[in-house]
Amino acid sequence: MNSLSQELDTVQKKKVFLLKNMSYSANLVLHSCPKRWQLEKLGGTVDEEEQKGSVHFAFGHAIGAGIQTLFMPGKTKNDARLAALLAWDVPLNEELPEKKKSFWYALKAIDLAEHLVAEIQSEGWELAVLDGVPAVEYSFVIKLPNGFRFAAHIDLILYHPERDKYRVVEVKSSGFKNIPEAIYGNSSQSLSYSIVLDYLVKHKTVYDVLYIAYSCPNMSFEMFAFAKSNLAKVEWIRDILYDCNVVQGLIDTNYFPKRGESCYAFFSVCQFYGNCGYGDEFLGLDNEKMLDALIKKQLENTQIDKNNKRGYDLELDLEELLKDRMLVLGKENTNETI
Ligand code: SF4
Repeated sequence: MNSLSQELDTVQKKKVFLLKNMSYSANLVLHSCPKRWQLEKLGGTVDEEEQKGSVHFAFGHAIGAGIQTLFMPGKTKNDARLAALLAWDVPLNEELPEKKKSFWYALKAIDLAEHLVAEIQSEGWELAVLDGVPAVEYSFVIKLPNGFRFAAHIDLILYHPERDKYRVVEVKSSGFKNIPEAIYGNSSQSLSYSIVLDYLVKHKTVYDVLYIAYSCPNMSFEMFAFAKSNLAKVEWIRDILYDCNVVQGLIDTNYFPKRGESCYAFFSVCQFYGNCGYGDEFLGLDNEKMLDALIKKQLENTQIDKNNKRGYDLELDLEELLKDRMLVLGKENTNETI
């Protein structure tokens, strides 16, 4: 921390450090509007913070925590309800009745999830244990070239003892009555998870990732399993390197294009609408105290501390992942089975 503080001795270096820390959700913003991405990264309104305190955020987390608990050995539906309560971070009576989102709707969803989890378990899947820790919210960071980093958390990793195989599971909630599978089918999120899981468990994975998606209007769950080929996984590596190049270009030119078509999306107006045209100084992007606070928060997440589950479970270099992938593709080409 001290050596990094010494290294980051100018406002510009601090900004570059923050911009080079990537995640799936931040990259979605990058792709939709680089200006918004810059403002969220440097203005202290990262998407997590932005969503904090909203019923949408609380609902998704309550369902996620409930389902994760249902997979834990010896845990009951009441434990899952308690986990949902702890994850509900807005007042209990806050609700969006027209969206069927409230704490009580979340409890109803957990009732339904109990059967779904039992169905998955009856197929032989159980919660994986990695390094002695149940694989819930398993986190990793990939160190990329030129100081870039990509961080992520996996909702659940399941293990099939008979088949000796692992599988990634993502839990989602949706406002669609009939959830289109295309929302998740080509998502790079699960692709990055599956490539890291492959590395982690030495290729003892099944080829698909499982999405458990809850339709709020329908009050029902749907499951989607998507195959992730080795080629697609290699392409993810190319995609993330492409994103790094784009970000480097934005930093080098200090120009962050505005994408007006993204100002209104998903029935809401961008929080920066009307202000994003002002200069960095006016927007508070050169505020050293804010930058220091954001860096501190970022660094807290990079301290490996498995005992209290702070920090990342796995930190690895892209090079290691690449070697691993090449090994898989090489074996495929010589028709060896993995
Ligand atoms: S208001 Fe529009 S152009 Fe400005 S940052 Fe937001 S999405 Fe980008």
